[in-house]
Amino acid sequence: MLDTIRKNSKEKVIITAAVVGAIPSKKDNPNLPTQPKEIAEAVFACYEAGAAVAHIHVRDDNDIGSMSIEKFTETVEIIRGAKCPIILNLTTSGDAKASHDDRVLPFSTLLPEIATFDAGTMNWMHSIVFENSPPFLERLGRTMLEKGVKPEIEVFDMGMLNNAKYYIKKGFLEEPCIFQICLGAPGGMEATVDNLLFVVNHLPENCTWGTFGIGKGANEILLAGLALGGNIRVGFEDNVFYNKGVLAESNAQFVARVGRIAKEVGREVATPDEARAILGLKK
Ligand code: ZN
Repeated sequence: MLDTIRKNSKEKVIITAAVVGAIPSKKDNPNLPTQPKEIAEAVFACYEAGAAVAHIHVRDDNDIGSMSIEKFTETVEIIRGAKCPIILNLTTSGDAKASHDDRVLPFSTLLPEIATFDAGTMNWMHSIVFENSPPFLERLGRTMLEKGVKPEIEVFDMGMLNNAKYYIKKGFLEEPCIFQICLGAPGGMEATVDNLLFVVNHLPENCTWGTFGIGKGANEILLAGLALGGNIRVGFEDNVFYNKGVLAESNAQFVARVGRIAKEVGREVATPDEARAILGLKK
């Protein structure tokens, strides 16, 4: 375990709730939150269930994935207005058609503690190009440094991890880095323990990391991630099924399961403040 844990806590697991994402619809699961009030309520329930970080996407009025600054502002204001202490992590990749300006605007305006940095371009779901060009990644890194927003480096394949190492060397990403190992997205690495271990073994020493699996490998990655000392992300963004053939009732249902399993194997759930300390977030 010590070989793979990096700067994660041995005692505490940080749970991230990814409550909506850009892709799933209420047709896939009617319990999916899509509008600001619903998203905020899902975040509150996930916090109560043990999540320390909320990874936020928004939808437009038709429930389509969006980088609308109005929707982000409304959502963040409800969460902050309720004094919920959860760490906010805003996506920069909520709409494949959004401009670079639109992708940068929410985090640079609302200043969450974390925003996502998808460390390379890939084919997404066999349908579109998920574009993260070198000029965009340099701009993202530079803007996050200027604004004091910590990047969460999302890695869907090994090439993205190598890109991240390049941007660390060039000063666009500051250590200790936060890595999110995203497995099972069509176009990226498959959700297998073998792949998870391969990525983890190549992470830089000075980092923290978490993981999640999409689809049929979800539970395998959850269990392996915990076994390797990783932090865990769950939620409707990645899975609308709780188990094979069983739709999830809520995002909090996923969070609570991680807490129960972690506790059984000797790891407690990190509070938001404990997560801030582990992740090296500036207060
Ligand atoms: Zn996301």
